[in-house]
Amino acid sequence: MAAAWGGCSKPATTAQAGESAPTEVAVAPFSADSALANVGRQVAFGPRTGGSDAHAKCASWLADELRRHGADTVALQRAELNDFGEMINIRATFNPAARRRILLLSHWDSRPWADEDPDPANHAMPIDGANDGASGVGVLLEVARQLGLQHPEIGVDILFVDAEDSGTEGDDTSWARGAQYFAENLPYGAAEPTPAYAILLDMVGGRGAVFPRELFSEANARAVNSRVWDLAKKIGLGSRFIDATGGAINDDHLPLLRAGIPAIDIIESANPQTGSFNPTWHTLADNLDNIDPQTLGDVGKLITTLIYSEKQ
Ligand SMILES: [Zn+2]
Repeated sequence: MAAAWGGCSKPATTAQAGESAPTEVAVAPFSADSALANVGRQVAFGPRTGGSDAHAKCASWLADELRRHGADTVALQRAELNDFGEMINIRATFNPAARRRILLLSHWDSRPWADEDPDPANHAMPIDGANDGASGVGVLLEVARQLGLQHPEIGVDILFVDAEDSGTEGDDTSWARGAQYFAENLPYGAAEPTPAYAILLDMVGGRGAVFPRELFSEANARAVNSRVWDLAKKIGLGSRFIDATGGAINDDHLPLLRAGIPAIDIIESANPQTGSFNPTWHTLADNLDNIDPQTLGDVGKLITTLIYSEKQ
């Protein structure tokens, strides 16, 4: 995603491992190890840049995994985009007959340029995108596996959007192109009700990551933010999901907000060192070594707990 602008309203704190959990809400199952393995599989394809062999292979692997986990439908939305190649959005539905549904999404492409790398010689090289891309998808694939094991009462759509991260600073429309395309061609209508809300996961695997409320989400979908951050506190994740407002980030949730779907972005944007993104952001260090399964696990159990607490 594009750089945050604006700072965080209060200093970030580092999540405490083993923090005690109040017991008001039963925490739903989620395997951090599976999520980590999902990140590793994506990275092993190589950079998932438009037009690459890794991109094509990863797309079919993602669709296969969603089917294997018991999705009721899996649909690929393809379009040719200038300066990218074939864009492929992948959407799975679970319990599609349910009237009440939510949408969970992450981008699955990776940035073609390490243009924030400390060494300028690396700026034209593609990144692994272990955190920026693969982490959110890794969590959502494990969420999909859990949904196959225990069917939710509500409907859940899992959407992997493409072409998020080939953007140029200063050109807002050059980011989140897969999400833009999805929002302009929404599959919802009489047969498939529009989701009540959407949650975007982006950069959810960083070491010591903390998640403040992203500013566009807070301004446009505050009730959803409050539901998520309140639940995090209830299950003992209050120091990971800090109840502060962070920066405003141009990301895949914005096209959904413009299309009228309340959408929030769970994104590491209050790193204790940088005050914004993880230091690996758009560098060659965004690799598997810098992914923390504890972070993946905390985000994942919050999402599964949220899903299973939702009623028709
Ligand atoms: Zn990015």
